[in-house]
Amino acid sequence: MIQLSTTSVEEYPSSTSWKERLSQSRLTTQALLHYLELASHPLANSEAEKLFELSVPPGYLKKIKKQDPLDPLLLQILPQNQELIEVAGYTDNPLDEADYSPVKGLIHKYKHRVLLVASSTCAINCRYCFRRAFPYEEHRQSRSDWQNALDYVRNNDQIDEVILSGGDPLIQTNNALLWLLGEIDSIPHIKRIRIHTRILTSLPERLDETLLNGLKALNTALVIVTHCNHPNELGDELKPVFNQLRAINITLLNQSVLLKDVNDNADTLTTLSKDLFQLGILPYYLFLLDPVSGAAHFNVSEQKAKTLYALLQSKLPGYLVPRLSIEIPGNPSKTLIKLSN
Ligand SMILES: *Cc1c(COP(=O)(O)O)cnc(C)c1O
Ligand code: SF4
Repeated sequence: MIQLSTTSVEEYPSSTSWKERLSQSRLTTQALLHYLELASHPLANSEAEKLFELSVPPGYLKKIKKQDPLDPLLLQILPQNQELIEVAGYTDNPLDEADYSPVKGLIHKYKHRVLLVASSTCAINCRYCFRRAFPYEEHRQSRSDWQNALDYVRNNDQIDEVILSGGDPLIQTNNALLWLLGEIDSIPHIKRIRIHTRILTSLPERLDETLLNGLKALNTALVIVTHCNHPNELGDELKPVFNQLRAINITLLNQSVLLKDVNDNADTLTTLSKDLFQLGILPYYLFLLDPVSGAAHFNVSEQKAKTLYALLQSKLPGYLVPRLSIEIPGNPSKTLIKLSN
């Protein structure tokens, strides 16, 4: 455990490698509150840490306002009392993913695209994550497991897109990640490779030269989907990161989750879309919360979501309005929320 009380984020020079920075991400609730100059926090609960570790990379931590117990970035990562309360309808596996896993580490729910569980951990642990109780250990992949997943993709030529998700795929070493990307790149029927990651915004050091050059060398079109929920997660220091990715023709999209007391107001979401655009990123999805155990306190009702969404549409050009959607197990795609009354 890294105690931030003794090693403060600011003490590390910006040249620190991403792995060192990542190793600073695991901390205790107590150390977190101490760093934020909060003597206590009415919602915090270190028991909840045992359900899902607290992990927050320095790039995200820096953006949490000190002495503000209701900071919207803090609320996304703080282990809270309410996580320990069971709520009807909230389960460990809300999306029935296991039913769609024909090969270890691969989820094939939608006809033309497959998702690879390309990592068993994340740099940042988001309390509302639908995979917070995912049995990652069972999906931890060796090279031969990957060969089986890759064979599945090779043998199914109706699949034209491979999505690396996780966990966070960018938490892998360059060697492992670039090997996997190279294998996918060599499958002729794969036309797009997509990477879903929260690392580029919370640990921007991750885009090192080796990774950038590796991505540049791929022939298949690349899409990167970032995950930001609040404009405070963004900043000018991210400009070079996304400029470099745009310079090698990577399409940049963002998905968010609608979260109570974090981003459930039209002004916040409007600013988020505009700020993403300044970084060259287009809003893609705005998801309603998946009903995962321990996350019920983040829920925003569908009715409120619709009201908010109508406001968003009135405030933004159409191309900056994300698709308000929900994942319903068994449906052939994500399900768009219809606004019609
Ligand atoms: C969300 C998801 C996808 C991607 O869906 P898009 O609508 O293409 O973004 C693919 N596979 C799985 C299992 C998913 O959960
Ligand atoms: S998978 Fe995404 S939402 Fe879930 S903890 Fe990791 S970064 Fe957060």
